[in-house]
Amino acid sequence: MGNPIIKTTGLSKRYGEVQAVEGLDLSIREGEVFGLLGPNGAGKTTTTLMLLGLTEPTAGSAWIDGHNCTREPIAVKRIVGYLPDNVGFYPDLTGLENLVFTGRLNGLTDAVSRSRAERLLERVGLTYAAGRRAGAYSRGMKQRLGIADVLMKDPKVIIMDEPTLGIDPEGVRELMNLIRQLSAQDGRTLLLSSHQLYQVQQVCDRVGIFVKGRLIACGTIGELGRQLENDGRFLLELQAEPMDEALRKALAAIPGVKEIQPAGDSWEIVSSRDVRPDVTRAAAERGAAILSLRQRGGDLDEIYRQYFEKAGDRDDNHEDARPENGSGGLRLFRRRKKV
Ligand code: ATP
Repeated sequence: MGNPIIKTTGLSKRYGEVQAVEGLDLSIREGEVFGLLGPNGAGKTTTTLMLLGLTEPTAGSAWIDGHNCTREPIAVKRIVGYLPDNVGFYPDLTGLENLVFTGRLNGLTDAVSRSRAERLLERVGLTYAAGRRAGAYSRGMKQRLGIADVLMKDPKVIIMDEPTLGIDPEGVRELMNLIRQLSAQDGRTLLLSSHQLYQVQQVCDRVGIFVKGRLIACGTIGELGRQLENDGRFLLELQAEPMDEALRKALAAIPGVKEIQPAGDSWEIVSSRDVRPDVTRAAAERGAAILSLRQRGGDLDEIYRQYFEKAGDRDDNHEDARPENGSGGLRLFRRRKKV
């Protein structure tokens, strides 16, 4: 992967009493797919707007490909394509006509614009709908037309806001493939802002977790998982028979076990070290059969939840900052009561 192409230092934005973004230091390399993750109100859109030069930071700075986003918004616009979560098109123009129009706005001749539009419609799988009114496109089709539209100006960097919102699973799969291609084949840099963890996890090289305007963690999924383990947070899921008070007490007495929480038919055991052998022994000593014992923490869903619990440990008033259930089969991330 290449040199840093997006860079922010101490980037901050305050709206009156609300600190929407605070001291953001971010460096994204050329060709990278980076996921900016966080619940509603975390500051993702505000960050995006500052990168696009559409809103001015109250402190710090942002740079894209060597251009200051606040002082050189036109230069930035030339190299950055932005796909908002609700893409708008002229409803009475066809998909092809909409793209040709964008090409013209970007200074392309009609001939170049048309051939590029046709090529891009093919790339996003919309050739069959090229002559249909954009107003009659489904949400998924509009999203793909949006990507073609962004590509009309051949941007080095593409910023997408909630790209998977309202798209069916097959559509999401196609979109993810396309995003990977844009990075792997074209060498473009993609910044995706989303709270759809599962979908984003499949496609991002790195993710940044945003809470209340602050980036609380940043790295590959593997790095974030290892970081949690180094911080001494192991999470086990246990199902046993019987799961009674005697077993719970025995497990709670294992050195390193911090918390035991009910989770459906299972218990979640939070510990500061790997306690699997001790759990097995404690169950055997009490004549309990282990039906399943699983270490969790390897996927982004889990990593996200644990980071939120850590943030909650530091500041329990941040309950409202916890992510809500998305459409990707995620659980609610609220802390459960202790057993
Ligand atoms: P969402 O996922 O809901 O889009 P987000 O992570 O993009 O959320 P932002 O829209 O950046 O979050 O909002 C961050 C904070 O800044 C929120 O508390 C929001 O209410 C506040 N905020 C955003 N824009 C403005 C504005 N124009 N005026 C006042 N406050 C604002």
